[in-house]
Amino acid sequence: MGDLLTVRGIVLKETPVGETDKFITILAKDYGKISVSVKGAKRVRNGLTAGTSLFSYSDFYIAHIRKKMYLNQAEPIETFYNLRNDLSALAYGSYFLETVNKLLFENMPSNNVLLLLLKALTALSKNIIPNKLISSIFEFKILEFNGYKPETNFCVNCRKKTLPTFFITTEGTVCEKCLKKNDFYVHLNETLTYTIQYIFSSELNKLFTFKVSSKTLNSLSVISRHLMKNYFNLNLKSIQFIKEMEEFQ
Ligand SMILES: [Zn+2]
Repeated sequence: MGDLLTVRGIVLKETPVGETDKFITILAKDYGKISVSVKGAKRVRNGLTAGTSLFSYSDFYIAHIRKKMYLNQAEPIETFYNLRNDLSALAYGSYFLETVNKLLFENMPSNNVLLLLLKALTALSKNIIPNKLISSIFEFKILEFNGYKPETNFCVNCRKKTLPTFFITTEGTVCEKCLKKNDFYVHLNETLTYTIQYIFSSELNKLFTFKVSSKTLNSLSVISRHLMKNYFNLNLKSIQFIKEMEEFQ
């Protein structure tokens, strides 16, 4: 027999294996991303269904045998099942899982990302602030955890202190004079600048509670999506689906 181990984490991905088995990718507290084999996952009677489906936040009891992990038991803490009743929430939730799965390497503890994911999925399931805002906060924080922080106090080129009529590119704010012809930019105003600063300077517990106007939200979303594309270029199907969904709204 190998080692027994208990981890708490969230299911990022399910991969069916044959008729009855599957692999699940879990983002686990203190362990990071791990792959676990679930034998007989589709047999309802063995009780391995609820805690091992996508989005499930569970305690996993695992046998570690010759470098492979096998699930013995899963006890769900929160399944986020209600995300499945709302197409938009489901689309954004899938996008969050896919992003995290693509960005993280195996076996590297990423407790801040796990907490972010939990907070974002909780916000989606509660439906108090717009999904698009939840997504922007998620994107800015993922960027921050990967070392990105935009300069918002002065022009990144000439260092002149910026005022609300300035612009933002990938490094942060630039003044009108320094904006280059091919730069991607969004017009800034005080609210937008403040909101970006607030997201980057606040702890996760304080985020996912505030609201902004739809105009500010649209600008925020344009910026965070552009940065995601620029920094990670993940090309995920889930974000394509979200964009198509938005066109019909
Ligand atoms: Zn400048």
